[in-house]
Amino acid sequence: MDVHAYGAPRALATVVPGELPQGKRGAIQTATLQWFAEHRRSVPWREEPSPYRVWVSEIMLQQTRTDTVLPYFRRWMRRFPTLGSLAGADLGEVLKMWEGLGYYSRARNLHATARFVSARLGGELPDDPEGLRRLPGIGRYTANAIASIAFGKDVPVVDGNVSRVLSRLFAIESDITAAATQERLWALATELLPRGKAATFNQALMEFGSRVCTPRRPACPRCTIRRWCAAYAAGSPEAYPRKKRRVVPRVAATLGVIWQGDRVLVQRRPPQGFLGGLWEFPGGKRRGGETLRACLRRELQEEVGYRGAIGPKVMTIEHGYSMFHVTLHAYECVLEGSVLRPKAAEWRWATLEDLRDLPFPAANRRLLETLERRRGGLPVLTRRGSSRGASGRASARGRRSRPLGSRPS
Ligand code: SF4
Repeated sequence: MDVHAYGAPRALATVVPGELPQGKRGAIQTATLQWFAEHRRSVPWREEPSPYRVWVSEIMLQQTRTDTVLPYFRRWMRRFPTLGSLAGADLGEVLKMWEGLGYYSRARNLHATARFVSARLGGELPDDPEGLRRLPGIGRYTANAIASIAFGKDVPVVDGNVSRVLSRLFAIESDITAAATQERLWALATELLPRGKAATFNQALMEFGSRVCTPRRPACPRCTIRRWCAAYAAGSPEAYPRKKRRVVPRVAATLGVIWQGDRVLVQRRPPQGFLGGLWEFPGGKRRGGETLRACLRRELQEEVGYRGAIGPKVMTIEHGYSMFHVTLHAYECVLEGSVLRPKAAEWRWATLEDLRDLPFPAANRRLLETLERRRGGLPVLTRRGSSRGASGRASARGRRSRPLGSRPS
């Protein structure tokens, strides 16, 4: 971007890339705090910054925008208003409340930490960064954010927004993801911190990054610190932060919606690891040279012992995770007579209505919504008039649904 398209910079201070402008620390602090006083956004964790609320908000805000977090935070606080209520909840319910926010290890860590703090720390979160960092899911940034915002400790924060502001303010040329660059940013954030005002200043800098010094088209013309901004002086704010291009791997995967009457087979992922504790349809990644149908046939046989026909395709879902992008191909199948032997520790046959109460990854949830919308809860094979499917559906109506939470026999 050509910054001069927004108007030529005037009376710029002498800016030395990579260094805090001499004698301007106080001016940058004042300008940032003043901007925040005038533009501060009202959010529930700010209006009532108890340690529990600040902790939950900080975990939810990791990799997630404030607008997305707000409804989740409000719903969460209605259901789990205290750390004790979260500790006493079932993990399945916690994951269900988190459904759609992604990075599910965050929800599992919140739950584990609540239980640990309740049982071992008298229900009180530690008030210092060192103590906080010993808890699951709390790293350097989150520990300092909680310690400064909830407990008033004089410690800085460096998140994505602060990284961007500082990398532009100081025109940092090295790769933002490199450990040495990160250390440099932490040192600058520490240097810039006004003593006794860390809670307000940290929030001010983060919000300034998300609303003024944005990744694309930063609002330099109305920026209150542009006088001291090296990237602005150079006319190239958007060139910062410097980042090496990362190639995101793409994978193809298949999954099977296996119907038995009006119920489908779902299984639960192991509690730890990627998408741990969530429910899903059986399936998996395509191996080199396999057709999609061959992939699904192999996956269903390996995972649940299904050897029947692969039916029509339901949909294709594109979904991006932080480390890879997946194209999911979903097919329907109908179980005819034989008994399946899923290898998962937990699995069940359930109606689409039952599945509304279970936590699913976002891509699987989209598939469920499509099944409900398009099929009215019925498999396409039976809807098209197969006599086998029709009888299966009729007999299924007479069966009672297995209660959720029980392990199938
Ligand atoms: S002048 Fe532009 S690039 Fe520099 S801090 Fe302000 S908004 Fe960011």
